[in-house]
Amino acid sequence: MNILVLNCGSSSLKFQIIATDLETIAQNADRRLAHGQIERIGGAAILNFSAEGKETERSAMPIKDIRTAIETALRWVTAEDSGIEGVQGIADIHAVGHRVVHGGEQFKQSVLISEEVLRGIEDCIEFAPLHNPANIKGIQAAREIFGRNIPQAAIFDTAFHQTLPEISYLYAIPYQFYRRHKIRRYGFHGTSHRYVAYRYRTIKNIPRSEVKIITLHLGNGSSIAAINGGNSVDTSMGLTPLEGLVMGTRSGDLDAAILEFISAKEGLTIHEVEMLLNKQSGLLGISGLTNDMRELIAESEESGDRRARLAIEIFCYRVCKYIGSYLAAMNGADAIIFTGGIGENSAKIRKMICENLSWMGIRLDESKNETNKGEGIISKENSPVEIRVIPTNEELLIARDTVRLIYTGDPAAG
Ligand code: ADP
Repeated sequence: MNILVLNCGSSSLKFQIIATDLETIAQNADRRLAHGQIERIGGAAILNFSAEGKETERSAMPIKDIRTAIETALRWVTAEDSGIEGVQGIADIHAVGHRVVHGGEQFKQSVLISEEVLRGIEDCIEFAPLHNPANIKGIQAAREIFGRNIPQAAIFDTAFHQTLPEISYLYAIPYQFYRRHKIRRYGFHGTSHRYVAYRYRTIKNIPRSEVKIITLHLGNGSSIAAINGGNSVDTSMGLTPLEGLVMGTRSGDLDAAILEFISAKEGLTIHEVEMLLNKQSGLLGISGLTNDMRELIAESEESGDRRARLAIEIFCYRVCKYIGSYLAAMNGADAIIFTGGIGENSAKIRKMICENLSWMGIRLDESKNETNKGEGIISKENSPVEIRVIPTNEELLIARDTVRLIYTGDPAAG
């Protein structure tokens, strides 16, 4: 089957076409046929399309909405000169898998999309007012383009963390707020943490129940998960993705009293302060330069910029504190695994994070860390906790869940 994987944001679309079925999943032989990205939808959009093994095609054109963006992507995918094997028309797309940000408590795993599911995703808009409406628009546009008979699945960022126990998901605020409004920690990046845990147990050839690891998704958005018995038992993001680690533009953890304080001092509404904490804080806020880790590292190394260095140090310090707290929460772990744009690519950040773990004998192998490409172990052989890098692949899990839902009705523990 050819699965179209869609990640629809408020002004962007990311897509992949993945050829997979039950047999290919069992053999780990799924094939990505194409991928692409359209940014600045609603104005002069920038388009990047790549067929596997070919050079990326870049272009710009006005694109007014998400439906037009999906149609444009499909026109490219099905064009003869794109040369995508086995995809000549939209009839060659057999199902669509959507990344959906918030599934609340209702969605504990991936599901095929029905009217009821769509209503459930709408019910979660209040938790993710920027993301879920864009995801819904993508689902509706795909229905209009492909018709209602093609199966569509929703894969939720929150679902993997639905196994969190009460002691980690409840905030210490009056309990009735959880009862009345479902205010609790949900966690995000669930598909990424789940993929990394799946790869780990496959590489180690151990059953899911024996997976006891800490996964670090460090990208523009960052989160960490404690996984025990194969299940997520704690994670750093909360009701929304604002909580936890220092991120590109998000503050992560802070004293909630700061909202009122900034509001009074700066004459901003609470909503404006929340936007500031989401969009102008984190690495960008501290450095005053950029939210991009690669640029910050360059600035601090080339020009010795003090605040760029400070932003990097605060980022690493926060990650280190969370690792320590999750080691305590789980009474140890077998591995610490890095993923996401920063986690996969930055030996320097991995080193800075791991340096502070030597108190418990966790030893990074500096040369393995420096030379690592893709999946690999970067700890010394005598390190009591392995340190690994596993590049994430959320799209693959989205495609696989879609296939499994269609054939077996069960996305399966993956
Ligand atoms: P998103 O969360 O948007 O998916 P990514 O996972 O792609 O983001 O991560 C983007 C971040 O990864 C950026 O801050 C970028 O600078 C950083 N990054 C990518 N490559 C490197 C590298 N070699 N060294 C340091 N940071 C890197």
